[in-house]
Amino acid sequence: MTDLTALTLEAALAGLKAKNFSSVEITKAHIDACMEGADLNAFITTDFENALVAAKASDAKLAKGEGGALEGAPLGIKDLFCTEGVKTTAGSKILGAFKPQYECTVTANMKQDGMVMLGKLNLDEFAMGSSNETSAFGSVVNPWKPEGKNDEELVPGGSSGGSASAVAANMCLGATATDTGGSIRQPASFTGTVGIKPTYGRCSRWGIVAFASSLDQAGPITRTVKDSAIMLQSMAGYDPKDSTSINKELPDFSVACDRSIKGLRIGIPKEYTIDGMPGEIDDLWQQGIEWLKDAGAEIVPVSLPHTKYALPAYYIVAPAECSSNLARYDGMRYGVRVDGEDLNDTYEMTRAAGFGKEVRRRIMIGTYVLSAGYYDAYYLQAQKVRSRIAEDFTNAWETCDALLTPTCPSAAFPIGRPVNDPVQMYLNDIFTVTANLAGLPGISVPAALDKDGLPLGLQIIGRALDEETVFAAGAALEKAAGFTAKPKKWWV
Ligand code: GLN
Repeated sequence: MTDLTALTLEAALAGLKAKNFSSVEITKAHIDACMEGADLNAFITTDFENALVAAKASDAKLAKGEGGALEGAPLGIKDLFCTEGVKTTAGSKILGAFKPQYECTVTANMKQDGMVMLGKLNLDEFAMGSSNETSAFGSVVNPWKPEGKNDEELVPGGSSGGSASAVAANMCLGATATDTGGSIRQPASFTGTVGIKPTYGRCSRWGIVAFASSLDQAGPITRTVKDSAIMLQSMAGYDPKDSTSINKELPDFSVACDRSIKGLRIGIPKEYTIDGMPGEIDDLWQQGIEWLKDAGAEIVPVSLPHTKYALPAYYIVAPAECSSNLARYDGMRYGVRVDGEDLNDTYEMTRAAGFGKEVRRRIMIGTYVLSAGYYDAYYLQAQKVRSRIAEDFTNAWETCDALLTPTCPSAAFPIGRPVNDPVQMYLNDIFTVTANLAGLPGISVPAALDKDGLPLGLQIIGRALDEETVFAAGAALEKAAGFTAKPKKWWV
């Protein structure tokens, strides 16, 4: 019998429809895979009992030839999405045993379409991080290992590390993720998976725990570009409950994956290379250019002159918004409370006990850059830089239709690598934050293995609302790269 966990989402949905196997069968196969992979620590909460109930309900629908676009498919949900009656932690201790009484719009859409939810996936605390090491529930382990170094454990990237690891290890057919500065694309690059951050406003933020509201965007992590298109189609859509949600008809993302890129103008921004970046990443970028050329694209050099200011601007805007968003965790309404001598003391003790080091650092930076006297020098300045970065892209779109860049400046690195300097960690996001600051769609597609046998991704960034071109170019890269490598299964 075929290994049902090795199927793409697309093939699984077709197989379910054709009744080659049932949802209960494919769900059970994934539950087994999740149990085998427990050491990867990808899940914070599993919900297998309800998954089987949902699978049975899907089978009943499928038997009648009914069912939605994700009917019967076992998927994972990043634990930042509020799910009714299922513990939601945001990777933090501060929420305690919080069980939302409501369902966020994205997962509501997916449930409406018939998804079977296996559980809630691990992440950096409040999605702040690039390695999943800031989670209060422990690091997630990357299923990939450097060749010949079997005792080394690598990070899966962050903040959607659980999502990336679970998809790469065939524990679910696809997973939701969120991307504020790169948290879909960087973990996808580190685990040989595909991840797309759509245009800001495509997916409703309603019911997703907020990190930095003007940057946060949900999207899928999957094993193929087509699978990402299928999942995004279900996740996205207008929602009046999110005032920044885009009220525009969704194009057919799957159809876009099959579109030819003949004549498409691909811009190569000269600023997307940094000192100390491995030569292999530059080589892969060149290879990507050749692949797209062979597929009929026209390559144009472009300049995005404010790129070097993107990371500093992001690390002002994101902490500023986080300090405001996280002010609500005061021990009065949610989760953890540590009683102090008076109200202020209670606030302080609660927040000191509930938040981890990285979240506290961000709150302090954010509070500082928003405080009287520093607001103009930092926050306002960063907002101006943000406008310049958006303008850079607008100018680039005069000569090209999409951009090709590396996703990250490195491959996955070892868990516990000493990080005395947080800026070193922040550098992971150097090629991804720009798309968040400008609200643009970006996809990471696995393109090659490095000299240690670890996956590397290439990124396509597109115009706002033009995910179709991003999918088309992403699918062309995927086809040319022919990336079929899988991590060796050492975790059983
Ligand atoms: N790594 C970035 C950060 O720590 C991005 C996180 C994200 O996209 N959620 O802020």
